[in-house]
Amino acid sequence: MTKVKYYYDPETLSYRKIERKKRRTFKYALFFLTAAALFGFITVFITSQYVESPKEKALKRELANMQIQYDMLNKKMDEASEVLASIEHRDNNIYRVYFEANPIPEEQRKAGFGGINRYKDLEGYDNSKLIIASNKRLDILQKQIVVQSKSLDEIAKLAEDKEKLLAAIPAIQPVSNEELTRIASGYGYRTDPFTKARKFHYGMDFTAPRGTPIYATGDGKVIRADNRSTGYGNHIRIDHGYGYVSLYAHLYKYNVKKNQKVKRGDLIGFVGSTGRSQGPHLHYEIFKDDKRINPTNFYYGSLTPEEYNSLLEKASLENQSLD
Ligand SMILES: [Zn+2]
Repeated sequence: MTKVKYYYDPETLSYRKIERKKRRTFKYALFFLTAAALFGFITVFITSQYVESPKEKALKRELANMQIQYDMLNKKMDEASEVLASIEHRDNNIYRVYFEANPIPEEQRKAGFGGINRYKDLEGYDNSKLIIASNKRLDILQKQIVVQSKSLDEIAKLAEDKEKLLAAIPAIQPVSNEELTRIASGYGYRTDPFTKARKFHYGMDFTAPRGTPIYATGDGKVIRADNRSTGYGNHIRIDHGYGYVSLYAHLYKYNVKKNQKVKRGDLIGFVGSTGRSQGPHLHYEIFKDDKRINPTNFYYGSLTPEEYNSLLEKASLENQSLD
């Protein structure tokens, strides 16, 4: 209820009501409302600068959480990078070296992506820097993994070949130790049993009774089993591939034919004294790329270190060969 105001009229000697004009009242009201609205608006605007709404608080929390998640992802990428780096190191310095493959150059492993900007869609946000950096790292990591995986495929292939090579090259004694009478003579200068002259002996002589089994020293194919080679008598040649050929001479009998495939340890013939020979023995040679090399380096497959040492000692004595 609005207060009714009065004034004293001296003329009529009575109190009269003060009548306020209606338009004026409306003006007052409008002014008051505008002022109140403005004040309210300014107050809300100022407080909103300092006080967050619940929705804003929730969004901020979400954003902070996302940043933590990104940091964690980056840490995980760090770990993955480290693991990958150690695999790459092993790959370059052990696997590829062992299989005689060239190491993959660092530039090739770490190569980024040139050309167009792949991260354009991610630009223009508050967190663009973080998101683009993380994306870049993951892309590079992915590429490194592809390079590494290809390298391992190559290594697997090389390992398979190496296995074949290891099975192929001559690696055991052609006559077993139990049946061996002695190692008569090794590779090097020896006295010729017939002429008594000092002559280079290109193989190794294993003395054993006539009929003692002779074994193929590596996987391969028999390329000769005949007596048409001067001095060798009945002899066998096995082609092992990779440039290796082994030769077994002065045989009493053959157990294989030309073109037959043999495995390491297969019985191929028997000790005899055919050809230019001074008594039953096996004359054994190894060719690498058509050159005769010292067979003592090729017995690691079957001998203990002690047996190998004693073999080396006996084989290096300059004595008379049996040829
Ligand atoms: Zn000989």
